[in-house]
Amino acid sequence: MQILRHAGTFLRRTRLSQTSTRSLNLQEYQSKQLLDKHGCAVQPFFVANDKAEAEKKFSEFNHYEYVVKAQILAGGRGKGRFVDGKQGLGGVYITEDKAKALDSVGEMIGHHLETKQTQKGGVLVEKVMVAESVPIARETYLAILMDREFNGPVVVASPAGGVDIEEVAEKTPELIFKEPIDIHKGITDEQCRKLAKDLKFEGDLQKKAADQIKRLYELFMAYDATQVEINPFVETSDDRVFCMDAKLNFDDSAAYRQKAIFDMDNHEGQDEREVEAHKYHLNYIGMDGNIACLVNGAGLAMATMDIIKLFGGSPANFLDVGGTVTEDQVYQAFRIVTSDPAVKAVLVNIFGGIVNCATIANGVIKACERMNLSVPLVVRLEGTNVDEAKRLLRSSGLTIITADNLEDAAQKAVNSIA
Ligand code: GDP
Ligand code: MG
Repeated sequence: MQILRHAGTFLRRTRLSQTSTRSLNLQEYQSKQLLDKHGCAVQPFFVANDKAEAEKKFSEFNHYEYVVKAQILAGGRGKGRFVDGKQGLGGVYITEDKAKALDSVGEMIGHHLETKQTQKGGVLVEKVMVAESVPIARETYLAILMDREFNGPVVVASPAGGVDIEEVAEKTPELIFKEPIDIHKGITDEQCRKLAKDLKFEGDLQKKAADQIKRLYELFMAYDATQVEINPFVETSDDRVFCMDAKLNFDDSAAYRQKAIFDMDNHEGQDEREVEAHKYHLNYIGMDGNIACLVNGAGLAMATMDIIKLFGGSPANFLDVGGTVTEDQVYQAFRIVTSDPAVKAVLVNIFGGIVNCATIANGVIKACERMNLSVPLVVRLEGTNVDEAKRLLRSSGLTIITADNLEDAAQKAVNSIA
């Protein structure tokens, strides 16, 4: 039971961290730059970091109406509110008046926008996008997802767009259409036409919408996206089609071949230590206890956390150093897990199969020497080159509590705090 319960926590945590680090999100303006490059219809726009920059850019940006949009990674901005800003202002502001649009830029930047999708207290707005506003006749929903259920991409379309798609799915599921795509064949013209029809585009607009769907699918494939969500995908009263909002996610395992995309990541909303760990190719997961765990392998991480719990302790985090770890990575890992002030003890639990225990020992020694560790350190090493590792630890002169097995290690870590 314990193990199962912990596995649950672990998986939940892992999934949580996946939303921030395993799958890259981009800001709307970045997504729209990519859309624009692929010939998808987006309204002309500029981005500003402050009011002065917006004022400058506004001088050459003349339209009948403007839409000012706070750039945060969460959706629901239109219905959001600024917790420390102007009452009544949301994250999407539409006006014909340039001066008012400019004022709203100043009222958004530097303030926290809370939406249904943000944490309580909101997210700091650092950038805004100002676009030409277009007259909406109809809002639809369009998304392309990599879906396990279909073993490949699927296009999700609904004529009831602009609102929460979960709500549509719950109340009017008959208004959601799904079209699986054969990844080898790609999307066919017929599928694009059918989807445009499902979305209730008619006549010439149906052709325009089908063409947009095709381009969006091409973009989805070209960038190794896991999700391209356009909500709303609109029809204007002057018979044009626009991707009015865009949320793009990318597969982290494609980072090596999508460098330009992954370089755009500004790590908004991510745990700083996760970001830091990621830099050194380490997996960090934060929790709310007080024993830092440095382990190798997710299975051992789960077992370690479980046994800590069994002895009445609670893990502060765990950092999985993986199999091909270097001495410097161990040092960085150590630095990251101990940077949390809640940490009252450190438990290093390594089962060296591929990992060389001596590498771990050297990394730990280097870290302790450089960092002046002020909390008890319990080390359990087993496996490849363990004798040499133990000799290194003994001769380092450091105060290290050594343990013989997993149980012993967990008990010693818990007792070191009591
Ligand atoms: P979200 O609330 O974070 O999803 O932000 P959206 O970009 O989807 O905008 C929310 C809503 O504002 C849309 O569903 C539209 O109804 C409206 N909106 C956004 N841009 C425009 C625009 O250019 N013109 C008009 N008339 N409405 C817009
Ligand atoms: Mg939207």
